[in-house]
Amino acid sequence: MEEKVYKSGFISIIGRPNVGKSELLNKLVGRKLSIISEKPQTTRNKIIGIRNLTNSQMIFLDTPGIHMARSKLNRSMTKIALASYQEVDIILFVIDDKAEAGDIDRDVLKRLEKIDTPVFLVLNKIDLLGKKDISSIISLYKEIFSFFRDIIPVSALTGENLERLLKKIDENLAPGPQYFPDDMLTDRPESFIVAELIREKVISSTKQEIPYAVAIIVESLEMKGEMMVIESVIFVEKESQKGIIIGKGGKMLKKIGKDAREEIERFFGNRVYLNLWVKVRKDWRKDDKSLKEFGYH
Ligand code: GDP
Ligand code: MG
Repeated sequence: MEEKVYKSGFISIIGRPNVGKSELLNKLVGRKLSIISEKPQTTRNKIIGIRNLTNSQMIFLDTPGIHMARSKLNRSMTKIALASYQEVDIILFVIDDKAEAGDIDRDVLKRLEKIDTPVFLVLNKIDLLGKKDISSIISLYKEIFSFFRDIIPVSALTGENLERLLKKIDENLAPGPQYFPDDMLTDRPESFIVAELIREKVISSTKQEIPYAVAIIVESLEMKGEMMVIESVIFVEKESQKGIIIGKGGKMLKKIGKDAREEIERFFGNRVYLNLWVKVRKDWRKDDKSLKEFGYH
């Protein structure tokens, strides 16, 4: 096989204030692909950056902090944070040159130890550390915790070892879809994810019959209080395909809508109202304007 399996995954960078999380994110994502959403966010997992490699896509999320001021770390916040750590594919737990024996985040790490998500310990700011310091910090953490998938010393500032970190992340991604087109700059990353989740349900529900004839457009996505309200259209090429998707008495469309809604709710951690329409756009795959509109290049 010459074609490699495409991989993708969601990654959360966590750690105390000032350890260099933002700097690290900027370097991992690269200026060009950094995505910044201007609109107020109430969803649980906010997308803050995307990095494309040849055969994979890394989507970085801003998950709720478990590192809030200790006094504020109440039970429900901890619960929300842990739930979202459970949902991501990889966690980067960042520490810096100030990491020392008496000051390990035991509480946080003990919680992370119990979840299934692989955790990488990233020792940042090694430009400020000597070789001996680096190895003593690493052995310190190794002694206390054995669940780290790997321990990687880096400098976000100088870029040292960041390629290795990227490679490690890449190796630990599972096969998955390319959620975002290459070189995409958008302020609506959620719409892409929503479209992808709907597409998945259309394909899994209708089996082999129509996958390539389907384009999903999210026409609007708004927060109304805690509710995410989504209007979306499933475009197909022929009336017969529309019939398949709607199904007998609308049964198939109902199932697709319900499955997709549940998946979107799981992903964003919000309640979702999903309005799904099916429309025919004759031979859209041969029409440049439609292709563009549907996000193909
Ligand atoms: P955050 O609070 O975890 O997001 O930390 P920031 O990314 O804002 O970084 C906090 C400070 O540490 C900033 O002044 C950064 O310039 C600095 N910093 C980040 N990474 C490194 C590094 O690898 N080496 C050094 N020397 N400084 C760094
Ligand atoms: Mg920051």
